[in-house]
Amino acid sequence: MSAKNGTPRQERFDLVVVGGGVAGLVSALCAATEGDVLVLTKGPLLSSNSQLAQGGIAASVADDDSPALHAEDTVRTGRGLCRPSAVTVLTEEAPARIRDLVELGVEFDDGLGLEGGHSRRRVVHAGGAATGDRVARVLAARVSAHPRIRVAEGERMLALWRSRERCVGVVTDRRAVAARATLIASGGAAALWRRTTNPPGALGEGMAAAYRAGAGLADLEFVQFHPTTLVDSSLLLSEALRGEGALLLDEHGRRFTDELAPRDVVAREIAARGTVLLDLRAIDRGRFPALMGSLVDEGYDPAQTPIPVAPAAHYTVGGIVTDLDGRSELAGLYAAGECAATGVHGANRLASNSLLECLVFGRRAALAALDEPGLPTRLATPAVPAAPDRVTAGLRRRLWEDCGLIRDAAGLGRLASAPHLLTRLIAETALTREESRGSHFRADFPTDSAEFERHVVLRPGSEAALETWL
Ligand SMILES: Cc1cc2nc3c(=O)[nH]c(=O)nc-3n(C[C@H](O)[C@H](O)[C@H](O)COP(=O)(O)OP(=O)(O)OC[C@H]3O[C@@H](n4cnc5c(N)ncnc54)[C@H](O)[C@@H]3O)c2cc1C
Repeated sequence: MSAKNGTPRQERFDLVVVGGGVAGLVSALCAATEGDVLVLTKGPLLSSNSQLAQGGIAASVADDDSPALHAEDTVRTGRGLCRPSAVTVLTEEAPARIRDLVELGVEFDDGLGLEGGHSRRRVVHAGGAATGDRVARVLAARVSAHPRIRVAEGERMLALWRSRERCVGVVTDRRAVAARATLIASGGAAALWRRTTNPPGALGEGMAAAYRAGAGLADLEFVQFHPTTLVDSSLLLSEALRGEGALLLDEHGRRFTDELAPRDVVAREIAARGTVLLDLRAIDRGRFPALMGSLVDEGYDPAQTPIPVAPAAHYTVGGIVTDLDGRSELAGLYAAGECAATGVHGANRLASNSLLECLVFGRRAALAALDEPGLPTRLATPAVPAAPDRVTAGLRRRLWEDCGLIRDAAGLGRLASAPHLLTRLIAETALTREESRGSHFRADFPTDSAEFERHVVLRPGSEAALETWL
């Protein structure tokens, strides 16, 4: 900031990106071809959820595969709720986005992985199960070296800056930043649950800020629980292990499920038994050096003994309602990655479609954002936002107990008065969806219902709406 006549000059950018995961980094790089970009991350740049991604990125790059087959698998997993146009965009653009990464310097391993719900081997991976880390490091290095991108690490967005029905930037814990367009890429909210695979910062702050500013949120009831997380830990044991032949065994050492069934099915099968064992003894463990090392660090010997696993909250399907170019319902505001609800995942995300979502929709959102009109010369200073809602251990326990793998009206009703905005909104969508579909299972409505083959959308000041997205 510089001063003229004693008045601080507002710093202005073409695009401000909130989040330094894969969605944020990709969108910053795309936008920087034509504009000046600021990337905000509340922690260090290399500490996102994206870095933890193990299995890889789905794309139809094999000879026996096609975008149509990838789309078929995505739609089947999404249980009647995937937005068809978004699935087409995702699966058709996937091979080109993998080529982009290769051009930027990502070195993928030979061979493709197989994961639950996929009818073909189509998961590209790097460093065995270190895909997210390898991709994020390459993107972060490019972003940090780019002359038109500024990175502000350790700076937290507190609220969106709204002026006359338009988003004109953000208010952070340090300053107000004005921008022609604002892109939220702040990731999901799975760390709101007691047991989670996510780092502690995945609290859905971008979703709550967007709602407070007037944007719609949708599909919040669909929370994916990863079936195989090491007990008493957040260490995820990738689906790719089951793709390579790892078996799930009950307390008597017997198999009880199809290891590659959709995640919600496997997770509920495991939850019904409490803790189960993942047997890695017969697979080629050498393909997963980082994971095997982590297990040894945790005191397990995967060559000798099956590993105790249980489900944990992993991925939030819903978020800020966007069109296929990342536009939210508030002018000037865009969203991409896990915080967005394009409708692409329907009621359940197909494994390895989320990093892909970051690549495809992050790029599209950045390109669309550059078309936003310029800002007025003068903008009134924004109000200082209230302190963000506190996330306590008690709140996380309540979400786990009342909005976990299996929900009912009584538990959700209790949550609907929680002191945390996003928790209340999650409870409201889960209460509205009086059926079981994909990753949302209601004990009091255990089957699906045609009436709910629609998205639950919440907008400030309105009742929950049920909508069909084409
Ligand atoms: C253990 C694990 C394994 C996974 N494996 C896979 C896989 O194999 N394949 C796959 O496709 N997906 C996988 N996923 C899911 C995938 O990693 C995520 O969906 C994806 O990385 C989300 O990326 P993102 O860019 O949207 O957000 P994130 O990577 O979560 O980044 C969010 C960013 O926003 C910042 N932020 C948040 N709030 C604020 C704020 N208020 N102000 C400023 N900055 C803020 C954070 O600091 C961070 O930089 C996995 C997830 C986990 C946890």
